Amino acid sequence: MLFTTLGETEEIGASCHYLLMDETGILLDAGADPEKEGLDSMPDLEVIADHPDWPLDHVVVSHAHHDHLGALPLVTKTFPHAHIHMSAATRQLADILLPASARLQRRKLKEGSTTVNPLFDEDDVEASSYVYQAHPLEEEFDISGLNALYDVTAEFFDAGHVLGSLGVMLRWEEGGKLRKLFYTGDTGSRNQTIIPGAAYPDEKVDILLLESTLGADPIAETVTRRSEEKRLGEEMAKVLKRGGTILMPVFALGRGQEMIALIDRYKRRGIIPEDVPVYTAGMMRAIADLYDKTRLNTPRLNDEFQVYGVSQQRLPRSQSALNEVLKKPGIMAVGSGMMFERTISNKIAQQLIGNPKNAVFLVGFAREDSPADRLLQAKEMEGDVDVVLSNAKGPQPMRCTVDRFRFSGHSNRRELLKLVEHFEPEKVVLVHGEAKAKEWMADNIRYFHPDVEVHVPAEGETLEL
Ligand SMILES: [Zn+2]
Ligand SMILES: [Zn+2]
Repeated sequence: MLFTTLGETEEIGASCHYLLMDETGILLDAGADPEKEGLDSMPDLEVIADHPDWPLDHVVVSHAHHDHLGALPLVTKTFPHAHIHMSAATRQLADILLPASARLQRRKLKEGSTTVNPLFDEDDVEASSYVYQAHPLEEEFDISGLNALYDVTAEFFDAGHVLGSLGVMLRWEEGGKLRKLFYTGDTGSRNQTIIPGAAYPDEKVDILLLESTLGADPIAETVTRRSEEKRLGEEMAKVLKRGGTILMPVFALGRGQEMIALIDRYKRRGIIPEDVPVYTAGMMRAIADLYDKTRLNTPRLNDEFQVYGVSQQRLPRSQSALNEVLKKPGIMAVGSGMMFERTISNKIAQQLIGNPKNAVFLVGFAREDSPADRLLQAKEMEGDVDVVLSNAKGPQPMRCTVDRFRFSGHSNRRELLKLVEHFEPEKVVLVHGEAKAKEWMADNIRYFHPDVEVHVPAEGETLEL
């Protein structure tokens, strides 16, 4: 089979991989880079078009994060005959997230914050959403190409990352032999607060397509969820006691809901006062609603828990109301998680980082040089430091507490290595990680599993596997 990555490979951006098995062409994920715009943010679909003998028959979307889903409307526009597969929950999330992405592109152009024309509009998104096919976990389905001589099948397994996330097992015949490839998607093997850890198939595979997000994070493997949970509760209590506001930049899908569940636990256990207001905003609220609606038919640790059962208020939009809110102790769990410019968490941070009573607590992955990462860098420096959250605003003094807690929905790098042990693959292809993360993973797989062939493909490079 042939394998090519169509998204960027030096950092975590658009996740999108093309596979060709015999005559069947499959795309694993159709992600876009949240920090870029227009075609720059998209995977290079031209690579497929440049090869007349590369069909595109099926697309599998592992989960609804933008870096795995955001290019789907472009893919369906470019390849209207392709079948699109995902979990039922991802399909419902896509119906919230993709129209929002179309609206955002239009708004940016209107506001003049970009000159890039939208790649798709809400009509495109709605038209294509009818053809998305939802499949349950652990049920094999056919994913063979139109001209395929041999069958290819797919089976979804819970990836333990966010609502609806899955890993996929592909099985096909090649040279008279059954071959298997498992794609992890983004995966978390430990229980979170709402979502249980992944349920991997107990099967040896030929090829493991492995995410590497936390491959360069040596701290994540030294902490336990329990120790981080305890530390965050204690730190929150300190800030609230001194009358400060806590900003928790979160991803609207996943970290946001998990943190609300955790805040609820702190309140019930008396770790923080019960009457401290919790503010949420935007898409996170619609997604929380979907978490609740799907709680009986998607994997849960406690199917009675409802995110909306936790008292929360809508973050006020007007500056005067916001100023009032900032005067009293409170917790704001708002997106984006990496605090990209023009997002709510970035705007709020600009207002509160100058005051030492406040705190910014980061609870997810922060990509290098994202505003969240800049805050973490500034925290390491001595004395009075300035930090740039917004290029328009320029450097501003950072006086508040900044801390990082490992609540990622991703497996740490030791857990990722365990997957190599679990699946006993002949070949591992490392994807979805910054260069140094993949380097650590590759070195360690080669050290602990010298018989395994390790590939770290560059964007557009074709591997024969
Ligand atoms: Zn993800
Ligand atoms: Zn991802």
